[in-house]
Amino acid sequence: MKYQGINLENVKLSNRSSILLLLNNNGAMSRKDIAETVGLTAASVTLICSELMEEGIIVELGEAAEEKRAGRKKILVDINPEYRNVLCIAVESDTTYIAVTDMKGNMLCNCSLPTDKHTKPEQFFRNVTDECQRLFWKNNIVREKLLGAAVTIPGSVDRKRGISLNTYSIWTESIPVADLIKKDLGLQVVVENNLKAYAQTEVYFGLGRTVSNLFILKWGPGVGASIIIDGKIYQGSNKMAGEIGHMTAVKDGRSCNCGRKGCLEAYVSTKAIADDVQAELDRTDENADKLERDENIEKIIDNKIDMLAFNLKNSISILDSKNVVLIGYMFEIPGYMERFIKAYKEYDPLVSDDFFVKTDLRVNREHTEGLAVFLNEAFLTA
Ligand SMILES: [Zn+2]
Repeated sequence: MKYQGINLENVKLSNRSSILLLLNNNGAMSRKDIAETVGLTAASVTLICSELMEEGIIVELGEAAEEKRAGRKKILVDINPEYRNVLCIAVESDTTYIAVTDMKGNMLCNCSLPTDKHTKPEQFFRNVTDECQRLFWKNNIVREKLLGAAVTIPGSVDRKRGISLNTYSIWTESIPVADLIKKDLGLQVVVENNLKAYAQTEVYFGLGRTVSNLFILKWGPGVGASIIIDGKIYQGSNKMAGEIGHMTAVKDGRSCNCGRKGCLEAYVSTKAIADDVQAELDRTDENADKLERDENIEKIIDNKIDMLAFNLKNSISILDSKNVVLIGYMFEIPGYMERFIKAYKEYDPLVSDDFFVKTDLRVNREHTEGLAVFLNEAFLTA
């Protein structure tokens, strides 16, 4: 068993944090296996586990089945899912999702509200915390049970200070998100870019456990990527790495939210596609040949898919990733993923069928990608 995920932030962890992160990553383990994996003596692991059990953070699960036959008892320990709850707030360009999960990522309750870009950010986050209070009240979530909150948001984020620097597609000013949430809810708050949070989840719980070079592509209201190199999320010198949506797709092309022209996102985001399809519908009147109109719309969509595939192919040529993980609303539309892979193969016929991976992580559906970020932060200081 290889110990992974923990070198993510290049931080020297306490022994306690190491054990918690290991359990978080691998699931239930025996004390002996923990000691071997993290390189501690059996005695110190036993001691730390006793402390963690007393605090209710971990629990004993009983004997491992295969060891029973050998006649030796092997008790497993794991993180106690019921220890505390975590509030996950996922701000996306159209909708903001709120969920409360346990320590294992099981969702206890959730709700959502539209992301209103015309509201001032301060007021918007007050609306968010009001919704959170209502959710807690309706579902009997007591404040003492909440360990803290994670906010995931598009664009660049100063994680240390809990500030969203620029969300591009929603607001352009910097927003002290952590302070705004903390003021209303009195919780420890971690803020992270939504794709980096997703990548962290993939590193801990998903494909990242076995594959150390990954490209995560998100296609939806925004277009973005997260790059995992040698098991670490690659940040870039301005924390802007992976902004595939802002690769230039057309010289002197459409204006983009980022202030530049011709960015990929200005052509292939959900809104850009919807606008172009609408323009086609407006162009042809109701009496037009329906078949021809449908064909034209499919051509528009094929063209968008081709643009995205072209830019991904060039990114992969530079990065040489082992796999590409496809996430986001657009890949959920029946047939779109297959069409995308077909378009990609026109640029690289040699690519193997298992190169593309559709994620089965539930955080993608449930918008709870903040949990991995929060647990990482909480365990680092444990
Ligand atoms: Zn742009």
